[in-house]
Amino acid sequence: MEPRMKYCYTCRSDEMHRPLTDVEKTWLKQKTGRKYVHDCFMCTAEGCRNVREGGNKHPFDPVIRIPTDLE
Ligand SMILES: [Zn+2]
Repeated sequence: MEPRMKYCYTCRSDEMHRPLTDVEKTWLKQKTGRKYVHDCFMCTAEGCRNVREGGNKHPFDPVIRIPTDLE
C-alpha cells in the first residue's frame, strides 16, 4: 500500500501515513497481542509515529508510537 493522507489523532490534523514495515508489524503484534496488524498505518509527521488503523483513527488507548530503533 502507498502512503496516504489520513487524520492523525495525536497531531490533530491530516498527515501522511505509511504502512508498517515487517519489523514494525512484529513489534506491534507483540505489544498488542493482535494477530493481524495489516491495516495499521504510522503517521510520518516529524516526531509523531503514532499508529492508527485504516478505518479507526484511535484504535489504541493509550496511543502507540512506533519506536525509532527497531531495525
Ligand atoms: Zn501524527
